Amino acid sequence: MSLIGAYDPDNIFAKILRGEIPAVKVFEDADVLAFMDVFPQSKGHTLVISKTSQARNLLEVAPAELQTLILGVQRVAKAVEAALKPDGLIITQFNGAPAGQTVFHLHFHIIPRYDGVEIAGHGRAGMADAEVLRPLAAQIGASIS
Ligand code: 5GP
Repeated sequence: MSLIGAYDPDNIFAKILRGEIPAVKVFEDADVLAFMDVFPQSKGHTLVISKTSQARNLLEVAPAELQTLILGVQRVAKAVEAALKPDGLIITQFNGAPAGQTVFHLHFHIIPRYDGVEIAGHGRAGMADAEVLRPLAAQIGASIS
């Protein structure tokens, strides 16, 4: 899928937002939802999405919605740091399939890094058990301030 195109209301994150498929939620307010990546590249890999925008990528999002979203990303990233004490954090997002994007609802990845621990590449991690993700989500969620 290229950078140019229409928003697909049946993309997987839209389904999560509508509650049609489950997700291990970390935090939500009126504007943003944070949930655990089900194929985590590292312990605590969290995704943050806008609940109001139908932008597929960073180029399409309205400035006000981007502002709200990136502030949500910062808030959740601080909670990830407080909860899991990683040594570093990757915060990233991909625009268009050739860039690596696989879900076409704008989202940011928060990927904790731990000294000496290798991580799986983007799109190469195995699926995590919800039982493993739930306590991490609860820990991060409890650290939201
Ligand atoms: P992208 O490749 O578009 O940057 O990121 C999409 C992310 O969504 C990937 O890291 C992938 O592991 C994650 N993902 C794909 N399907 C699901 C799902 O059904 N639930 C959750 N929680 N994450 C998903």
